[in-house]
Amino acid sequence: MRADQRRANTGPTRVTCQNEEEHFGSIPRKPCRTCTDFKTWMKVQGGQKGSTKDQKTATAPEKKTAMAPPDGRVAAPPAGCPLDKDELGRSTWSLLHTTAAHYPETPTVGQQDEMRQFVGLLARLYPCSYCAEDFRKDLAEHPPQLESGSRLARWLCERHNTVNRKLGKPEFDCDLVHQRWRDGWQDGSCG
Ligand SMILES: Cc1cc2nc3c(=O)[nH]c(=O)nc-3n(C[C@H](O)[C@H](O)[C@H](O)COP(=O)(O)OP(=O)(O)OC[C@H]3O[C@@H](n4cnc5c(N)ncnc54)[C@H](O)[C@@H]3O)c2cc1C
Repeated sequence: MRADQRRANTGPTRVTCQNEEEHFGSIPRKPCRTCTDFKTWMKVQGGQKGSTKDQKTATAPEKKTAMAPPDGRVAAPPAGCPLDKDELGRSTWSLLHTTAAHYPETPTVGQQDEMRQFVGLLARLYPCSYCAEDFRKDLAEHPPQLESGSRLARWLCERHNTVNRKLGKPEFDCDLVHQRWRDGWQDGSCG
């Protein structure tokens, strides 16, 4: 069974990180915000009101509202709140693609080692555990191509497309990866 199918089987009121203990030792299991999109998270919280909050509470420094699309669905957590799975994903891809876009065209052996470690550690520590598990499997089949900046950027684009396909999203044209993440679009719209 695929990792994301296992997540679906955890049921509507308990969305947990499958491997939380493996990653983080003895931290007790709790609903996993970074494994869940915000809409699902809000549903789960509705069912568990009061049961998962930390004992210490803090007042938000300013009142913030969740991002709501025109049809009224709540799509993303309010600004300044912990990330859900999708915000975490967008932020992480931004870091990864931007880092790859600025990786040298002729890296030293040391730089290649550092990048290998960076990707490997991310795949171990990424706090959506079933995402990390699938990412590790993908890395085992497709190890990082570290010989040059352009190869690394394309390799990463392909890894991102593997996730896009899994989620039923359109694939990104990897010929455009430097326009998206380094140079800006050719039409000048990025300034
Ligand atoms: C390592 C990793 C594994 C993940 N695994 C899962 C998972 O198993 N299940 C799950 O539900 N979510 C997973 N996610 C999160 C998921 O990939 C998305 O980040 C999340 O669904 C939000 O998607 P989005 O449509 O906002 O854009 P994202 O997919 O986050 O993309 C952000 C931006 O990157 C650009 N982009 C899109 N595709 C590419 C590409 N191939 N190359 C370069 N740029 C591109 C686009 O401009 C896009 O707007 C994972 C994230 C990461 C970092």
